[in-house]
Amino acid sequence: MRAKATDLAIDGGPKAVPSLERRTSKIGTEELLALIDLWEISPDRKEKIRQIILAEGEITGPHLSRYYHPKGKSRVKAAEDAFQKILGSKYVLGVNSCTSALIAALRALGIGAGDEVIVPAYTFFASASSVAACNAIPVIAEVDESLGLDAADVEKKIGKRTRAIIAVHMRGDPARIDMLCGLAKKHKLFLVEDVAQACGGSYKGRRLGTFGDVGCFSLDFAKTISCFEGGFLVTDDEWLYTRAQSWHDTAACWRPDRYGKERREGELFCGENYRMTELQGTVAEVQLGKLDSILRAYRQAKRKIQADIGEFEGVTFRKSWDEEGDTGEYLIFFLSDGEVTAKVIEALKAEGVPCGGLYDKNVRDWHVYSYWEHILGRKAVAPDGLPWSAVPEDELTNYSPDMCPRTLDILGRSVHVEIDPHFTDPDCEAIATGINKVLSAYLS
Ligand SMILES: *Cc1c(COP(=O)(O)O)cnc(C)c1O
Repeated sequence: MRAKATDLAIDGGPKAVPSLERRTSKIGTEELLALIDLWEISPDRKEKIRQIILAEGEITGPHLSRYYHPKGKSRVKAAEDAFQKILGSKYVLGVNSCTSALIAALRALGIGAGDEVIVPAYTFFASASSVAACNAIPVIAEVDESLGLDAADVEKKIGKRTRAIIAVHMRGDPARIDMLCGLAKKHKLFLVEDVAQACGGSYKGRRLGTFGDVGCFSLDFAKTISCFEGGFLVTDDEWLYTRAQSWHDTAACWRPDRYGKERREGELFCGENYRMTELQGTVAEVQLGKLDSILRAYRQAKRKIQADIGEFEGVTFRKSWDEEGDTGEYLIFFLSDGEVTAKVIEALKAEGVPCGGLYDKNVRDWHVYSYWEHILGRKAVAPDGLPWSAVPEDELTNYSPDMCPRTLDILGRSVHVEIDPHFTDPDCEAIATGINKVLSAYLS
C-alpha cells in the first residue's frame, strides 16, 4: 500500500518537514570584521583579513559560549588551566568579573542574610558591595601602612555574626596574609582574598589568592592583565568549586549531566549567569602567557625609580610584607602631613610625574570607605530593606565617615606613582629626578 500524504510519518507516511537549512551561529564574518574595526587597521589589511576569512569557506560563525560546542577545547578552559598552573591551586573558574567572583565565592561559602563579612576601609567598592549583594552586612576595618587590612582592628570587629574576612591585596602589594589566615582559623571564619589589584603577586614565594578558602581575580581593563572584562575564582576545595560553578551558571551547562538530579545536597540552588565567553577566554590565555614578563617589567621600573629617590626626612615608603612578592605596579610613599602631601602631588604633576593621592577630602572616590554612601546610608535595592533589615536595629554595625580615622590619615598622606611596564631607564631616571626635585623643595 502506498503511503498517503495524510499518513503520519511515524506510521511510514511522508515527513511534513523533509529538511531544514542547517542552522548556523548568528555570529559570522561581519561580526569578526566589526571586531577588527576596533583597532585602526588600514583598509588594505582589512581587505586581506576578509579574504583570508572567506578563503576558509563561508564561516558558520564561532560559538562564543564555552559550553556550547566550541571548536576543539574551550578557550575559557584553556585559560583556567593556564592560571591553575601558574598558581598551583586545584580549581580555577573563569567568570565575567571579579565582582562576580566575589559574589559567587561568598554564595558558595553559604553566606547570606544576617551574616557579617569584614572588609577593608580602603579597597575598590566592589569588595564591600559584593557582600551586600549577597544580603550580608559589610563591617569595615582599618588598613595599616601596607594598605592591607590591619589584623588587630579586624580582630576587634569580629562578632557573633561574622562569617568571613575579605583580605584585599591593594595596589600590587600583599596584605598581611599570614596573620589574617591565623585570625580566620582562630575564629573559625572563612578567608576570601580579593586579588583584583595584585594578580601574579606572591607572599613568601606563594602566589596571592592561594592562602584563603578562595581567591578572586579581575581581568578588567585596568588590571595587571586583562581580557576587557573578566575574572577568576580560585580554590583548593572541590565542594566550594562545585557550588561556585552552580552560582555562576544557573543554566547548569557546567554539570556533567546538565539536568541530572542533585548529586549531593547543596549542589543545586538558584544562581545567576556569570559565564566567561570564549572571546574573553582567548584573550585571557594569551595575557596569562605574558604575566611574568609584565611583572618583571613593572618590578624593574619600580625598583629603578625607588633606588634613585634620595632620603628625605618625613618620607617613608609604603610598608611591604614581602618586597619580592609586590607586583611593582605602584610606588607609594607617605609624607608626614596631609596638607604638604596635596601640594607635593600638585608639584609632581606639574613636573610630569604620573602620580596622584589616595584620598583627598574634596574628591569623591569609591576606593575610600567614607564615600560608600550606599553602605554608610544603609541603602537597599528593594522595599524589603535587605541586607540591613535581617539584623535587629540595635545590633547593626554603626557606620560613619570617620569610623576608620587611621585609614583616612594614612591615605591622606600618600603619594602614589603609577608605574608603566614600558618605562625605559631614562623614563625612570626622569621620574626619580622629578620626585627628588619636588621633595627637596617642599621638605627642607
Ligand atoms: C577592580 C576591582 C574589583 C572589581 O573587579 P571587576 O572585575 O571590575 O568586577 C574588586 N576589587 C578590587 C580591589 C578591585 O580593584
